Amino acid sequence: MKRIAILGGGAAGLCCAVDLLRQTAGRASVTIFEQNSRVGKKLLATGNGRCNLTNLGASPVSYPPAQRAFVTPALTRFSPEKILDFFASLSLFTHADGEGRVYPLSNQAAGVLDALRLECTRLGADVRCDTAVSGIRPKNGRFFVGGEPFDFVVLALGGKAAVKGFQGYDLLSQLSIPCGKTAPGLVKLTTADPLVKSLKGIRAAASLRLILDGREAMKETGELQFTDGALSGIAVMNLSSCYARQMLQKKTEAQIEADFVPSMTKDALRRALSAIAKTGQRQLCEDLLSGFVPKRLGMALLKAAGLRADAPTAGLSGAQLETLCALCKAYRFPVTGAGSFADAQVTVGGAARTAVNASTLESKQYQNLYLCGELLDVDGPCGGFNLQWAFASARLCASSIAEKLV
Ligand SMILES: Cc1cc2nc3c(=O)[nH]c(=O)nc-3n(C[C@H](O)[C@H](O)[C@H](O)COP(=O)(O)OP(=O)(O)OC[C@H]3O[C@@H](n4cnc5c(N)ncnc54)[C@H](O)[C@@H]3O)c2cc1C
Repeated sequence: MKRIAILGGGAAGLCCAVDLLRQTAGRASVTIFEQNSRVGKKLLATGNGRCNLTNLGASPVSYPPAQRAFVTPALTRFSPEKILDFFASLSLFTHADGEGRVYPLSNQAAGVLDALRLECTRLGADVRCDTAVSGIRPKNGRFFVGGEPFDFVVLALGGKAAVKGFQGYDLLSQLSIPCGKTAPGLVKLTTADPLVKSLKGIRAAASLRLILDGREAMKETGELQFTDGALSGIAVMNLSSCYARQMLQKKTEAQIEADFVPSMTKDALRRALSAIAKTGQRQLCEDLLSGFVPKRLGMALLKAAGLRADAPTAGLSGAQLETLCALCKAYRFPVTGAGSFADAQVTVGGAARTAVNASTLESKQYQNLYLCGELLDVDGPCGGFNLQWAFASARLCASSIAEKLV
């Protein structure tokens, strides 16, 4: 009987435990060490309590270019369909929305956690909560965790996002496993632009470009949310991870450029505004943009264009209309920083991908030591891609270990 320790009872750790116990039936015991008083605490917060557990469109190209080759073996072997089959085998059934985001039929994250947790218990996993692991000692081909020997160890410790006092990287450093710098990902971006203050609480459809050192680094379309001194919403959060990756490498001037009327070209918008001004249908400037953008945003854009709200639209010059259109189509918010790890949904950076074999997720330094989930330097966009990685990588670890035990 081989002894397997899984460090971390989150999405990846629990999934790995179920898969391991199923595949090694009777040949291995599994012990889960979890620092919290219960397993899967973060899972409960996912998808606003609904848990967006995967995305039907998830494939290696869903992840940042530098990560694609690394995630390919796990995502090819454990595609979203395979992950859904796995959950169906745990009596957890799902539905997908128009963007491929998959949720449990109950729309409750607790249902996903129960599916994993109950199967772990049924299959006999030894789950030890309130047990923070502070050291792993490799000795004679085995690993000592809290003084107990194990034949295999899976590190499923997660990352720093939404976690207080994360110790996972200290464990990596004890083992001399390389770990790069980290930053909060899928998080709001802060800006000192005065426009943002007046727009707190407003949501607007926009096409957004992240501009780094004057060049487009990434593009996203979606709902832009204005909060206190920051830009948020799914599109901004996706851009934030790209921003974080760049800042980890080199401090760079960053801007978010917003196109608030993405369905029209600048010329078409100018023609439309000019026609509206000519017909006198909207006599005052304060009403000019209300057919295109939310009223308060329209007022803020007028102000930025140097136009008075009570000025007559009939008196607008071509140059004034041009300035207004330019701001509607390409308003640049200087980015001053990002939200904290407490606000973030994922960690950008982490255990070096080069530290493990991508086809097995086994450490290159230690035989029988595996890494999975957010602990590794892999991060996807919003929409189920991070849990897809957590589950796929966990299952790859489980299968790699099970294959050794045949
Ligand atoms: C608010 C929020 C919403 C999210 N929504 C989604 C979503 O809808 N879809 C999606 O795909 N992703 C979502 N994510 C991201 C997703 O939750 C993570 O990517 C995923 O949970 C990572 O799984 P993991 O098992 O690697 O890490 P975790 O789920 O964080 O699990 C790691 C576990 O290890 C434990 N641990 C850490 N250190 C130790 C130690 N020293 N000893 C013992 N135990 C330890 C932790 O307590 C934790 O339980 C969201 C994240 C947040 C914060």
